[in-house]
Amino acid sequence: MRTFVHESSPGRVVFGADVVDRVGDEVRRLGGNRPLVVSGPSRRSVDRVRRGLDPLAVGEFAGAAMHAPVEVTEQALTELRRHRADCVVSIGGGSATGLSKALAARTDLPQVVIPTTYSGSEVTSVLGETSQGRKTTRSSPMLLPETVLYDVNLTLGLPVAASVTSAVNAMAHAVEALYSPQANGLVDAVALAAIRMIGPGLSGIRVDPRDTECRAALLEAAWLAGMTLASAGMGLHHKLCHVLGGSFGLAHAPTHTVVLPHVLAYNSPAIGRTTARIADALGVGDAAVGLAHTIRDLGGPVSLRALGLREADLPEVARRAVAAPYANPRPVEQAPLEALLRIAWEGGDPRTP
Ligand code: NAD
Repeated sequence: MRTFVHESSPGRVVFGADVVDRVGDEVRRLGGNRPLVVSGPSRRSVDRVRRGLDPLAVGEFAGAAMHAPVEVTEQALTELRRHRADCVVSIGGGSATGLSKALAARTDLPQVVIPTTYSGSEVTSVLGETSQGRKTTRSSPMLLPETVLYDVNLTLGLPVAASVTSAVNAMAHAVEALYSPQANGLVDAVALAAIRMIGPGLSGIRVDPRDTECRAALLEAAWLAGMTLASAGMGLHHKLCHVLGGSFGLAHAPTHTVVLPHVLAYNSPAIGRTTARIADALGVGDAAVGLAHTIRDLGGPVSLRALGLREADLPEVARRAVAAPYANPRPVEQAPLEALLRIAWEGGDPRTP
């Protein structure tokens, strides 16, 4: 028998084509008049957001960076106070969303988030921040964005390579939710639906990156997967990715893409039935090997070496994951974890260490 505590995210979700143009209405709905728009340095789609916010008084900060460095948050906070902002609007991937949440954590201002990748961060009340080479995670209802605008047209230009890694990042949320201690019938159904949508969506955009139906399927899967992360939780996979990203500087989504099949192999002795359900949703025989081959066939990254990790760092990565593990179905131990990391570093097929 499973026992669990379930909480649903209360946020408002607006999904469709060109819904970004409704951003002004959504800000006003939250009582905002002076939004601060946060984005990454590319400022992709920021002018479109500004047009949607007209005639509100708009401030801007375009310095969002991966893993939410606290120094960047401090700079954005200065801009937020200078502008006397009463609302935060973020446009971009998980990095822009993370900055928005970091600002909400310090000000409790309402947030309208417009995601342009598949990170799922916009529907979780979790924030990973980095300071002095360490990533720490905090969770609070205050962090949860009030409104999310999913505009499929803003994702049409996400390069296929980045789409593959970002969608596997979403898949990782769903996979870990399935074996989380908080898993339940609702989480299972949503997670499996997300996993089922991702493979065909990615195959479709490989043929035509601007295929709106496939892009919509991926964006909806990202939302569903984010919801499972929000209500279930994270295991060994997310822990390893947090260590690799926060302490060793590896890029977030590509790291998820390399690590996920290997963690599935690591955990498989403890989660036999769940592995079979994942394999079924992916349409493969063996979940770990099938996922690894799917990623390779889609042109995704397959080795930690290629992402820039040094071989000498493998024992330290394992030590940090063992020192403060997240709940995981199989005990997290140094020797098998180092073995897992070595295979992932070399880019070999996943096998249970
Ligand atoms: P990102 O936001 O850094 O974006 C990656 C790159 O893609 C950037 O160069 C960005 O400019 C570009 N990009 C974004 N959207 C684009 C588009 N539509 N077209 C073209 N280029 C586009 O990366 P990410 O993987 O989305 O997010 C990673 C961050 O999110 C990390 O800091 C991670 O910790 C965080 N995250 C948090 C959670 C959570 O629940 N707290 C969940 C997932 C990820």
